[in-house]
Amino acid sequence: MTRDAVVFYSKFDDPVAWRNALQAELPDLKFCVAPDIDDSVAVRHALVWKPPTGFFSAFPNLALVINLGAGVDSLVARDDLPDVPISRLSDDGMVSLMTSYVLFAVIRYARDIPAFERAQRRREWHYIHPRALSGIKVGVLGLGELGSAAAAALAQVGLNVTGWARTEKTIPGVRCVAGRATLDSVIAQSEILVILLPLTPDTRGLIGARELALLPRGAKLINAARGAIVDEPALIAALRSGHIAEATLDAFMIEPLPPEHPLWTFDNVLITPHLASITVPEQAARDVAESIRRVRAGQPPLHAVNRSRGY
Ligand code: NDP
Repeated sequence: MTRDAVVFYSKFDDPVAWRNALQAELPDLKFCVAPDIDDSVAVRHALVWKPPTGFFSAFPNLALVINLGAGVDSLVARDDLPDVPISRLSDDGMVSLMTSYVLFAVIRYARDIPAFERAQRRREWHYIHPRALSGIKVGVLGLGELGSAAAAALAQVGLNVTGWARTEKTIPGVRCVAGRATLDSVIAQSEILVILLPLTPDTRGLIGARELALLPRGAKLINAARGAIVDEPALIAALRSGHIAEATLDAFMIEPLPPEHPLWTFDNVLITPHLASITVPEQAARDVAESIRRVRAGQPPLHAVNRSRGY
């Protein structure tokens, strides 16, 4: 029997690490790295991050596309995507990295750390009486693989956490609400707002000038999802006016963030270069291999993406 093959394409991920990790799971799978493909007919699976336009049409027997990341916004927005199941990455390593990022960013604000960082630069003993964490309201928008774990961890340290998603959820210690009609009330009560939504037609620009104005004065915003969920000019205006006191941003409308971008100029904005969470091939390969096994057996893959929903 001819071996089936997976084609790999990414400018960011290491093909050697992925080849080794996948071959440990599926020794019978042929691994080829685009554009070095000797038998495109044998390619049944594509493991890709932002392949060039027309990429998929070279593989007539494609049965599965696996997105080399959690966010599928750039993949599902393409008009050359074949009509095959799409899977995305999600694994414990990715969840724990994101949880650590969100815990760090929220606790930094809950414990007034930016004020001490600034005071230290002035050599000033700047005492701010700590507040009980239970009195600090945190909103988490998006309660999927990443948001639900982050919300649970924030509640675990004692913060007052409300989570928001499209559908109802149950997360220990977290007040969960669902649906667009509840969004304004979640925003209005969040001293610290964390964005962990996917970028879809529904969430693009979801946090605009109106929503930012709903936040309590002096609120802090943490966006670890996608830049385009937040209206960047509106955020800059809210930072300038002081309505938003602080922001931690890992994702931007344009990446890398250009040197002349105004967001670099705020000393109350912490910028990280889109690395809140990443995938380690050794951890993610197990689920990728299982998806390939399932598709070989005519079953849906793990972490299947719903194209019409956009995530
Ligand atoms: P999931 O698909 O598991 O979860 C998405 C969550 O968002 C779900 O709870 C979903 O609700 C909710 N949601 C989606 N659309 C809406 C809507 N219109 N209204 C309300 N809630 C909505 O995604 P992950 O948790 O795995 O990842 C979230 C995003 O994080 C990714 O899409 C990616 O963009 C970003 N990301 C960023 C990284 C970084 O390094 N900065 C790394 C990895 C991911 P429901 O559960 O009801 O369907």
